[in-house]
Amino acid sequence: MRKVISGFGLLLFAVALPVPGQQADRVIKLLEELSNAPAPSGYEGPVRDILKREFQAAGLDVSSDGMGSVIGVLRGPTDGPRIMLAAHMDEVGAIVRFVTPEGMVKFQLLGGWLDQALVDQRWTILTDKGPVAAVSGLKSVHVTPPEERTRVTPRDDVFLDVGAKSKEEAEALGIRPGDPIAPTGSFAALAPGRYVGKALDDRVGCVMLIETIRRLKEQGIKTPNTIYFVGTVQEEIGSRGAHTAVALVKPAIGLSLEAGIAADHPGGRSDFAQERLGAGPVIYLADAAMLVNLKLRDFLFEVGQKNNIPLQTEVTRGGYEDSAELQAYGTGVPAANIAVATRYLHAHNSEIERSDLDRTIDLLLKALAQLDARKVAEISAF
Ligand SMILES: [Zn+2]
Repeated sequence: MRKVISGFGLLLFAVALPVPGQQADRVIKLLEELSNAPAPSGYEGPVRDILKREFQAAGLDVSSDGMGSVIGVLRGPTDGPRIMLAAHMDEVGAIVRFVTPEGMVKFQLLGGWLDQALVDQRWTILTDKGPVAAVSGLKSVHVTPPEERTRVTPRDDVFLDVGAKSKEEAEALGIRPGDPIAPTGSFAALAPGRYVGKALDDRVGCVMLIETIRRLKEQGIKTPNTIYFVGTVQEEIGSRGAHTAVALVKPAIGLSLEAGIAADHPGGRSDFAQERLGAGPVIYLADAAMLVNLKLRDFLFEVGQKNNIPLQTEVTRGGYEDSAELQAYGTGVPAANIAVATRYLHAHNSEIERSDLDRTIDLLLKALAQLDARKVAEISAF
C-alpha cells in the first residue's frame, strides 16, 4: 500500500466536524475550503481552481497572466477607472531538494518560516502520483541530552519522514526533487466567531475577493469603475506574481487584500505590530516595502466613518505585501494594503475573527461604490 492520503479525505473530515455554538455559513464554508487547499508558492492550482469557479459563477470575464495569476473582470462604464483588488493564492511551504539513501526527504523552504515552527508537524508532498503524507520528525526526549532540550532545531537539520525505508521506496511514492510541500492542517471553529486554520494568509484575502463580487451582485450595486479581481501567485517569495499581473491590469488604484499581523497575545510585541483581532479592518500605513498613499488612506477612513465601520492601522517593518508592486507599477499608482488581523502567521495554525472579515468586505463595497473617475483623479493628484 502506498502511504498516501487524500486531500479531499481531510477536507471531508474537517467539514463533518460539529461547529459548536455557530452556524458555518457560506463565508466560513468558503474560508474552510480555501484554507484546507494545498497551494505553496509556484503550485497555486488548487486555489486558482476555486477562484476561477467563483469568478465564472458570478459571470466575470476570467483570464490568467503568464505566471498563473487569475484575473476576473467586473466591467463598469467604459470611462470608469480600473481598480485592482489583489489577494495572493500561495501559502508558505517548501520544495523537495532530494531524498536521502535512507528515504528521508530534505527540503528548501518557500517563504518566511521560523525554525521552531518546522519540527513535529504534518506536511503534504504534492507529487504527480498524488499527495503523500509526511511528518517532520522530532527527536524523542528520551534520547535528547538535557542541554539540547530547550534548543531550536536549525532548519537545515529538519527532514520529512514519509515512512519510506529507502530512496527507491520514496521515489516509488512519486516523490521527486522540485515537488511542492504544503503544511497539513484542518480548519476548525474556536470560541464563537474565531477560527483556526492553515494558510489564512492569504485565503482571507481570497474570501474577500469572492464575497465582494457576490455581495456586489446580490445587492445590485453598480460601481462607477471596472474592477479587476486578481488572485496572485508567488507573493510569499517576493510578490513575483503581482509584478506581472499588474502589468496586465494597468490599474488606476491598487488595493491588496491581506492577512495582517496581529500580535495581541502573550509575548506578542504589540509595539512591533498594532493589530488586534475584532477591532475591524486594518489599513497599513507603512510596511517593509511601501508607504500608503495618504489621500487613499483618508478616503478609506472617510468611508469607514460614514458607514460606522471601525478601522485600525498598522506600522510595521515585519513584512510586505503585493500592494508594494501595485504602487510601483508604471509611473506610480495610489495603493493601499487592507488586512484582516491574523494571529500566528506563517505557521500551521493561524487565527482570525469573523467580524473583521465581514467589516472589511463592507468597507470594500462602500469604497468601490465611490471610486469614480473624479474621485480617482482627486486621489491621484499631487
Ligand atoms: Zn500574505
